[in-house]
Amino acid sequence: MALELTVQEAMSKKEKPDYDHLTFGTTFTDHMFVMDYEKGKGWHAPRIVPYAPITLDPSALVFHYGQAVFEGLKAYHTEKGVLLFRPEKNFERLNVSNERLNIPPVDVDFMVKSLKRLVELDQDWIPTKEGQSLYIRPFIIATEPALSVRPSKQYKLMIILSPVGAYYSTSDQLSPVKIYVEDEYVRSVKGGVGFTKTSGNYAASLSAQTKANELGYDQVLWLDAIEKKYVEEVGSMNIFFKINGTIITPALNGSILSGITRKSVLELLDHWGMDVEERRISIEEVYEAYEKGTLEEVFGTGTAAVISPVGTLKWKDKVMTINNNETGEISLKLYETITGIQTGKLEDTFGWTESLETVQKN
Ligand SMILES: *Cc1c(COP(=O)(O)O)cnc(C)c1O
Repeated sequence: MALELTVQEAMSKKEKPDYDHLTFGTTFTDHMFVMDYEKGKGWHAPRIVPYAPITLDPSALVFHYGQAVFEGLKAYHTEKGVLLFRPEKNFERLNVSNERLNIPPVDVDFMVKSLKRLVELDQDWIPTKEGQSLYIRPFIIATEPALSVRPSKQYKLMIILSPVGAYYSTSDQLSPVKIYVEDEYVRSVKGGVGFTKTSGNYAASLSAQTKANELGYDQVLWLDAIEKKYVEEVGSMNIFFKINGTIITPALNGSILSGITRKSVLELLDHWGMDVEERRISIEEVYEAYEKGTLEEVFGTGTAAVISPVGTLKWKDKVMTINNNETGEISLKLYETITGIQTGKLEDTFGWTESLETVQKN
């Protein structure tokens, strides 16, 4: 059965927030996308409707057993029109999360098309200043009213949109962050759900994040859960190290999230002919490189900040200051290239961006 998207436009438009002081994810646009799933019927009734609260039964499974997955991507206002960055990758990854969480898969092409319709309808919400964008949050929750521990027979998929500011207050300067290497709590283990974007991963990370914040650090760097030896990733970013000219990132091992920014960075570095290694890397190896003076750069990658240079890394009683707490050459080049492609200022030779022009109006 072919899905047919219906559109119900809002009767009145909301007031826009102050675009000079946007805070991340606190204001939402006029419309949202909703689609329901019911066992036996499949995904159905895809619709764009005015943004509004939803009603759920208090026994809805998501509240009790956490069957929930999500995605995050951005739309940019550019001279070439509105551009999305590799949106099909997000819906493909949503299906990877779905499979692990026993949630039925979605049609990737249909979701990309529907997202384009939604963004097109709310495009006057896309901020236009340097570094600003429209953050897109697709998510699925289990809605069946039941307290049994089993996969839900009903789900709701929604997409909401939020205008967001530059991740850094000083727009053209990437300010290095302070990272705390967590050696008490763990995030995930192979066989678990670390490779998925499921809400519970974040719930489980909050204690460590709070501890790091109290100690004066921005984010946590997770180590592997078994030996607490190998580097995994940062809170919501993958991590890269430049040691003696070689760029190293932990290989995807079943407990690390496969970032789309990580993938794009690897493709760019490869294109530039740089030495890149995807492998296990221990925190001792990082510290030894630091001691020897060969730890040249550390940076995180993720949709929110794109590239986030790491200026300080604290592991046990050792505090490493990386590259004089300044943004490294590769971090900057990657940031400028990826954001240049995203905003249409650089030619997109990789075919990573998509305009809204392909939207089919039925
Ligand atoms: C979303 C996420 C990332 C970054 O993925 P991108 O696709 O690059 O935004 C990294 N780690 C975790 C745990 C994440 O949830």
